[in-house]
Amino acid sequence: MKKEFAVIGLGRFGGSVCRALSEEGMEVMAMDTDEDKVNQFANTASHAVVGDSTDESVLKSLGIRNFDHVIVAIGDNIQASILTTLILKELGVKYITVKAQNDYHEKVLSKIGADQIVHPERDMGRRIAHNIISNNVLDYLELSDEHSIVEIVANEKLAKKSLIDLDIRAKYGINIVAIKRGRDIIVSPQADEEILMQDILIVIGADTDIDRFEKKVF
Ligand code: ADP
Repeated sequence: MKKEFAVIGLGRFGGSVCRALSEEGMEVMAMDTDEDKVNQFANTASHAVVGDSTDESVLKSLGIRNFDHVIVAIGDNIQASILTTLILKELGVKYITVKAQNDYHEKVLSKIGADQIVHPERDMGRRIAHNIISNNVLDYLELSDEHSIVEIVANEKLAKKSLIDLDIRAKYGINIVAIKRGRDIIVSPQADEEILMQDILIVIGADTDIDRFEKKVF
């Protein structure tokens, strides 16, 4: 059975989530207090409704508890975001993702039981900063406070060497989990795989170890 999603708040973030889910062929209900926003999504979402998510009776009448996953993408109005999440929890929604504006907001959301809390601006800011600091780091994904996955472009110090030659697992405690080469991707490369210039190495490990590796190589 197809999963059913509801996106509450159709600003830049919620709108983008709604579009991407619809493009993937998911059933999406889009909701906003602003009629113009709702009209913009009338053809994208499966249903687009004007409504205030802080009004419990509105959410009930939409049968919100039958949705598999509700995304709360209310931006600046932290109070409305918190109240909406609380009502969704009370109504028994299975999985709730909420966009947090700041640490205080996140703390409250986690206390009231939001299943997933996202910080798109903060996370994107960090990713772009990593990319700006090091030209060789293409992308960066934080796994925890101390661990990440990074995409690093191979330079002349890495090229023409095999993973055994580099021995980075022993030297740095990090792992190359995949190599992107043009349109190909080599997942779990063998130890004798030779790295080529411009290969993109997908590296996983502790931030401090990845840092040591980058400083040595770049
Ligand atoms: P972003 O930073 O992602 O662009 P915005 O703050 O611009 O976020 O957008 C948030 C959206 O949430 C707005 O379209 C706003 O009308 C909507 N919104 C705010 N409060 C509610 C509410 N109580 N119920 C439904 N939608 C709401």
